[in-house]
Amino acid sequence: MAVSATWSLADLKSVIAQHWGYRTLRPLQEEAMRAVLDGRDSLVVLPTGGGKSLCYQAPAVLRGDVTVVVSPLISLMKDQVDRLRSCGIGAVALNSTLSTDEYHDATQALTSGEARLLFVSPERLARPGCQRLLQRLDVRTFAIDEAHCISHWGHDFRPDYRQLNRLREFFPNASVHGYTATATERVRRDIVAQLGFKDPEVHVGNFDRPNLTYRVQRRGDLMKQVRDVLDRHRGEAGILYCITRKDVDELAATLEKRGLKVRAYHAGLNDDLRRGAQEAFMSEECDLIVATVAFGMGIDRSNIRFVLHRGMPKSLEHYQQEAGRAGRDGLEAECVLLYDEEDVELWHYILDKAGERGGVPEGVRANAERQLGEMLRYCRGTACRHRALVQYFGQEYTAPSCGACDLCLGDARPIADSVTLAQKILSCVARVKEGFGAAHVADVLLGTPTDEVQTAGHDSLSTFGLLRGHDGLLVLDWVGQLLAQGLLGQRGAGEPALCLTAASWEVMRGVRSARLIEPANPPKVKASRAAAAAWKDVDRELFEGLRQVRQKLARERGLAPDVILSDLALRELARVKPRTVEEMKRVYGMGQVKVRDFGAAFLEAIRTFSPP
Ligand code: ADP
Ligand code: ZN
Repeated sequence: MAVSATWSLADLKSVIAQHWGYRTLRPLQEEAMRAVLDGRDSLVVLPTGGGKSLCYQAPAVLRGDVTVVVSPLISLMKDQVDRLRSCGIGAVALNSTLSTDEYHDATQALTSGEARLLFVSPERLARPGCQRLLQRLDVRTFAIDEAHCISHWGHDFRPDYRQLNRLREFFPNASVHGYTATATERVRRDIVAQLGFKDPEVHVGNFDRPNLTYRVQRRGDLMKQVRDVLDRHRGEAGILYCITRKDVDELAATLEKRGLKVRAYHAGLNDDLRRGAQEAFMSEECDLIVATVAFGMGIDRSNIRFVLHRGMPKSLEHYQQEAGRAGRDGLEAECVLLYDEEDVELWHYILDKAGERGGVPEGVRANAERQLGEMLRYCRGTACRHRALVQYFGQEYTAPSCGACDLCLGDARPIADSVTLAQKILSCVARVKEGFGAAHVADVLLGTPTDEVQTAGHDSLSTFGLLRGHDGLLVLDWVGQLLAQGLLGQRGAGEPALCLTAASWEVMRGVRSARLIEPANPPKVKASRAAAAAWKDVDRELFEGLRQVRQKLARERGLAPDVILSDLALRELARVKPRTVEEMKRVYGMGQVKVRDFGAAFLEAIRTFSPP
């Protein structure tokens, strides 16, 4: 059924320019849309912010029949419907919150052809009533959003998604399309199998997010570290993630005492408080959220400018998800991760607890341990963070430097003679006969005569005091960096002893290199290339003025501000400063309906804030 024969790429582009105001496509969007138009099952894996929704929305507009979108949360459906309508596209959601009248109107809009997209939950889709409706509408296209929810290997498994495996049976002539940001191979295979894809097209995008700047710091003076991040992002939106509810409450209270407007969010708060926090954040009434990872999937705000982790996440998969909520609009954003080895202990404790309750089968536990280890290795990394992340997810990273991480921007600097320093540390491990942990080895190197050091007679070793005068935490960091590079090993449980690996001996013999880093002093915090480019020629004062106008328009209509207009389009307006409707139509992100509905308000603001 080659439907696409009738539609060309030019048709698609014109629909997209007209409704969304985008003149270029993001990587793989064209291929993904072609699969929908061709009626070929497909799985599209793009990072958060990669523009997955457009892949099924634009073809739906072009085709003219109804496309069914399966979505996991009512709040997400509402947001999507709002966004589509604000672009002049008919869309409805069928869910339990509708009154009888609303339900009737929605089905009416579907039958009359006015609504092109129908959002439903998987439970709803399994109901015979809903299936009869879809059969009557002769639905040919299903888009499964957040498709990884079907796999219990993913991080958001939802049992109700499993019902989707019967979709094929009920709609044998339809094509099914899955969309996810989950990078793991296992989850992808599971999606293809569960959804019963026939000869699917699989498109996997590049997982790098060049607009995000990654920074990792050992947690020290926490409040100073937090303040530094907040200072860099005054008036902007951010999420501060904590591991425990107690940390959330404490951090939120401290920030509030300092006069900041913040909301707390965790599973221990009642429904009203949680909903209130989420709504305040989505409506931009409040820009800072302190939360556990319970604050997650329903968060569709695209202009989050920073994500700060107060503690280490339990896996890089989680980190990628959580940090990935920043900068979905494609504009620059910062992800700062504060960690401490004690976070690893905390996660062990949490795993043990879950194990006692019988919640963690053996294989899962081993997997969790491995993921924790990888996470720690990332924190202790001494080379580019973008590269480390991309490689972890199995892709190549070819650029020599990203220009957007602490290590490439020079927050930390490599030690000139890393090899000699590494040799000193490794030879100390050899001298203590590979029988002691990192803290003890650091004491010996620093020349600290603790009771244990004296009892073991290590104060008379030639390596005693070899690194005298250095900061103790920094010496521990170096040990961590050597561990992360496999240039040191560990054995034993509890407080494991440091031991030498084959690679350690190569470093000691001088046939292998090592890379150790220390914080630059005073720390430089340079803006990334993305940040410089995204603000180029933008009139910031005008941008702030337009933001206020957007906020007002949003409030009047009960919509989220970035449904009215994205930050990207707002910055374009503040850069181009259109003076007429015609000029405004040419601005990136200004679709026809947006110009019609909001053009006058923004033109007036431009005249006021920036007289010609
Ligand atoms: P994902 O679901 O992959 O995380 P979205 O579909 O929410 O991403 O898109 C992220 C943002 O990028 C949205 O604001 C969307 O409107 C915007 N976007 C999508 N495609 C394009 C494009 N071709 N040009 C500009 N912006 C785009
Ligand atoms: Zn880098």
